[in-house]
Amino acid sequence: MISKRIVLHFPRDLVSEPTISRLVKKYDLECNILRANITPRQVGIMVLGLKGGNKQYKDAIVYLKSLNITVQPLSQDVTWNEDLCTDCGACVTICPTEALTKDPNTQKVRFDKDACIGCELCIPACPMGAMEVHF
Ligand code: SF4
Ligand code: SF4
Repeated sequence: MISKRIVLHFPRDLVSEPTISRLVKKYDLECNILRANITPRQVGIMVLGLKGGNKQYKDAIVYLKSLNITVQPLSQDVTWNEDLCTDCGACVTICPTEALTKDPNTQKVRFDKDACIGCELCIPACPMGAMEVHF
């Protein structure tokens, strides 16, 4: 069993296609759309949680890539710029997954990319612009 969060970049010609429902039927995966920005005839972006068998997951990724959909792991998309960070802690209180935490000894902020779900709550919360999302 595998559980992953991925970011899909859809090419223009696929935006109107029911790609995700085909994915569910074809590979028996549990799909959870975490975020989507898809406009007809425009390039689309979707953050997707996928759960299911290892082989089915790998086959589904091959299928998505065969359609010219770019697949990225979610954790690549949100970055923390340590140089800009003043350790104010505003993002720590807002982060729902504790991807951003404060070291209790040093009071320095730490970012755990693996725990980040890309919800973007920290982006407007940061007064220094230290949290960035990249698509
Ligand atoms: S994007 Fe969401 S989960 Fe990731 S660090 Fe920011 S607040 Fe936390
Ligand atoms: S809100 Fe910005 S400046 Fe404050 S601790 Fe978080 S990343 Fe650092």
